[in-house]
Amino acid sequence: MNAPTEINETHRVQFPQLDVPPRLLLGPGPSNAHPRVLQALTMRQVGHLDPCFIQLMNEIQTLLRYAWQTDNPLTIPVSGAGSAAMEATLANTVEPGDVVLVGVKGYFGHRLVDMAGRYGADVRKMMKPWGQVFSLEEIRENLETHRPAILALVHAETSTGARQPLEDVGELCREYNCLLLVDTVTSLGGVPLFLDRWGVDMAYSCSQKGLGCPPGISPLTLSPRAVEKLHRRKTTVPNWYLDMSLVSKYWGDERTYHHTAPINMSYALREALRLVAEEGLAERWQRHQDNVELLWQGLEDLGLTCHVEKEYRLPTLTTVRIPEGVDGKAVARQLLDEYNIEIAGGLGELGGKVWRIGLMGFNSRRENVVVLLEALDRVLQKHQAK
Ligand SMILES: *Cc1c(COP(=O)(O)O)cnc(C)c1O
Repeated sequence: MNAPTEINETHRVQFPQLDVPPRLLLGPGPSNAHPRVLQALTMRQVGHLDPCFIQLMNEIQTLLRYAWQTDNPLTIPVSGAGSAAMEATLANTVEPGDVVLVGVKGYFGHRLVDMAGRYGADVRKMMKPWGQVFSLEEIRENLETHRPAILALVHAETSTGARQPLEDVGELCREYNCLLLVDTVTSLGGVPLFLDRWGVDMAYSCSQKGLGCPPGISPLTLSPRAVEKLHRRKTTVPNWYLDMSLVSKYWGDERTYHHTAPINMSYALREALRLVAEEGLAERWQRHQDNVELLWQGLEDLGLTCHVEKEYRLPTLTTVRIPEGVDGKAVARQLLDEYNIEIAGGLGELGGKVWRIGLMGFNSRRENVVVLLEALDRVLQKHQAK
């Protein structure tokens, strides 16, 4: 043992007990977790191979299949943020030289390009201005030109508030013999999604947006076609932590230890998914739609304009244009400081041009819309009077 004089006491600081302000999180995520989810999070721990935890894992898988409308056996939560599940889809199915076609119409499309490139893909991009979506015809033309092994699309582009229609895209992908990868991070639990009917082969999401759970655990699903590509690999998956050929043994019959599952986050996710099943998908999607329409009407009444054409707007995330002469950052800051409401500014092409307002999961409630509109009205009046 070290002599006491050798201990560096510089960093031994007595901080106060943790406290945080009661924020209403109406930005692009995280959203506020449902109280029942927070309660589940604090439940006592069991081991990650305990029979009762294994049962809980099975329940999570069942409920995830419901939320996503898929029968894929390989449907699991990844230990990590949405970006970990995102990276897992590419790490497992991309082999060096594979052509990966990415639809880029916002920030997260660019992230897919970046990640696919890191795994050695021959990345091709199809581009659209931020706030727009691809037509089926444009997708067909690009599949014809690039003949990719994987087509990657962002269903709910959180940086723009646009919803990419996916009906019939899976059928096209089968015609061109490619896998369809879809980012459902801001759609799962809030926007209609039918993975199997739409022929989606790979999808990922997160816990902290439409599911109303804290961040840190992220759903992933691979269709039998995607699993087959994984099994046919000539090279090992170049990411040990996210290697689904290893991780799936913990989630399959073998229950082989790979890494320690986030036990309490698993409790939380189970409760969040239980709430989805309790409410029912049809009701939940309708609730998100009803509340966002109330928001759109209210924003219009304040003289503001939504950035995305109504037909393609997301029910979970709205981009609204910052009026001429108004300091968007100052408005958002004032909402936070004076009203404890968090909204966000724009990214990339939309930086400084829009605010991003999220109504996700537990937060998609009428009273939240009313409170936000009232606060925004007051703050805007002050800023426009200047
Ligand atoms: C939030 C988000 C991600 C990343 O999720 P993290 O949990 O922040 O890693 C990926 N794609 C989209 C569309 C998102 O909105």
